Amino acid sequence: MDSFEVKNKGIFIGGEWSDASDGANVPTINPATEKPVAEVASGTVEDAKRAVSTAKEAFDDGRWSKKSAASRTKILLKIADLLDEQNQEIATLESLDNGKTFFESSKIDVPFVANLFRYYAGWATKFHGNTIPVSGPFLNYTLREPVGVVAAIVPWNFPLLLTTWKLAPALAMGNSVVLKPAEITPLSALKLASICKEAGLPDGVLNVVPGKGSIVGQAFVEHPDVDKIAFTGSTEVGKGIMRAAADTLKKLTLELGGKSPNIIFEDANFDAAVKGAINGIFYNKGEVCAAGSRILVQESIQKEFVKALGERAESLTLGDPFDKNTRMGPVASEVQMKSVLGYIESGKSEGADLITGGSRADIGAGYFVQPTVFDNVTSDMKIAREEIFGPVVAVIPFKDEEDALRIANDSPFGLAAGVWTGNVGRAHRVAAGLKAGTVWINSYNIYDPASPFGGYKQSGFGRELGENALEHYTQVKSVWVNLGL
Ligand code: NAD
Repeated sequence: MDSFEVKNKGIFIGGEWSDASDGANVPTINPATEKPVAEVASGTVEDAKRAVSTAKEAFDDGRWSKKSAASRTKILLKIADLLDEQNQEIATLESLDNGKTFFESSKIDVPFVANLFRYYAGWATKFHGNTIPVSGPFLNYTLREPVGVVAAIVPWNFPLLLTTWKLAPALAMGNSVVLKPAEITPLSALKLASICKEAGLPDGVLNVVPGKGSIVGQAFVEHPDVDKIAFTGSTEVGKGIMRAAADTLKKLTLELGGKSPNIIFEDANFDAAVKGAINGIFYNKGEVCAAGSRILVQESIQKEFVKALGERAESLTLGDPFDKNTRMGPVASEVQMKSVLGYIESGKSEGADLITGGSRADIGAGYFVQPTVFDNVTSDMKIAREEIFGPVVAVIPFKDEEDALRIANDSPFGLAAGVWTGNVGRAHRVAAGLKAGTVWINSYNIYDPASPFGGYKQSGFGRELGENALEHYTQVKSVWVNLGL
């Protein structure tokens, strides 16, 4: 795609578009061409503060928080319909910004997000308090109230998807939101703001300030009028946010990094497992927090499995994300490409066997990295311990079930895991033994708005999606009534 007119490039506060308070813009780069897509406003601390005070005013005057749940449902359903109607434009922005294939943006991400709004639209009228049978002459009941101003801070790998995992439940429960998209992928969030306005979301309920994490993100985290932070990003930044949020005791949910094991037993359906392992690591160029970046293979099938894996990895077509034949686009930025290539060098120097890939793909402009498979990796190597967040996978052999679980759990992360086996008892035993927030049996990378997602250990805490997410966007008030008077 050579040129595309980007309409929403400013700061969105109180339903209006503006420039940054200091007039600064930054280009957002198409990673497939290395050329700018658009100049986008880069927010300041002053902009962040204005967004928070606007969101607080909107919350306090009840224009959304006190609206009937049924009318919130109606607007969320309208947002869903507009997302479907404007699928092509929003998917184009997402692929231009992030480099993911247009197939993934238009056929997977945008439809998922529309259905996510439909799912939480339904919850607006159904998540409520209850009455509790207490002792004495009292009636006791609980109210579920919105928390107030929610700051959503989002990474660049699924810019639209991860924005809406926060926005849809927050809005369903009546909160106001200030949103900071990732520096390098702000376009779909800005488009979403215009869709929300078109759907009739009252001005001031959603405010979007693109800009730097260290400026806009930090200002949100420190602001006393922000009641809750919903953060997705790296474990390192997540830890800093937790420290900073302590000063004002903000509610916090953290969706952080991962190094997820995808475990292949010798009794698995071989072809399905190869396919699942490939999808597990190379989907969205490996820029998936739950990527199956450690493939644990039972020793008895290691040779055969790695051969099939290598062949399939080599057959993935890299190229223009808008070309129907492309299976993998470029990684999202030059910085990310350099980081991924650095990990590849470390795998080579630490003595892992390079089966395929291993360098930048020589296909012209763009931050393309070859799908890379390392075999005979050991758990102490950097490529087995650290999140690479790119198309690089570490194959680690194991002997038996116990060994597989020991290696799988030998990680500071615990976001997700896969288990491939034909033995139903083993599948459930291993699922129970894995320290991970999501386990896929004979599948990988499956998501649904209704099923909770989140981490164990240093992959974070709190859950997004499903009913569980609503806990984080509400607080419980217990009301006592003396029946004796
Ligand atoms: P990042 O942590 O660098 O940035 C995430 C967001 O935080 C960005 O919007 C950034 O601007 C902002 N930020 C940076 N410094 C900040 C600060 N001091 N205060 C407030 N905000 C700040 O992460 P990234 O590189 O954009 O994304 C990749 C990471 O996200 C990976 O580690 C990946 O595993 C993780 N991730 C996790 C999940 C999950 O659900 N667990 C999903 C997707 C991505």
